[in-house]
Amino acid sequence: MPKIDQEKRTLIVMIKIYCRKKHHTKHLCAECQALLSYALNRLDHCRYGENKGFCKHCPSHCYNKANQLKIRKVMGFSGPQLIFYHPIMVIRHLLS
Ligand SMILES: [Zn+2]
Repeated sequence: MPKIDQEKRTLIVMIKIYCRKKHHTKHLCAECQALLSYALNRLDHCRYGENKGFCKHCPSHCYNKANQLKIRKVMGFSGPQLIFYHPIMVIRHLLS
């Protein structure tokens, strides 16, 4: 699977976990939905394409300030939980 697609799937899962636990919704709330489309859009336009590393370690931060803060919160919250929900995804992520 292309790296970008893997990253997208991880992102979707993380935002879903975050929204479910933090906003107590079954489906993504409007705010999280907006954040997700923003993030997916950034990935589509990532200038590193398939050679990209983790967004976290990327030298060029393409997120705007507000969304950068939001996504950091999401990752900080959902990242550690991902291992329980999707261990294989995490392992793949760590190995890539
Ligand atoms: Zn939400």
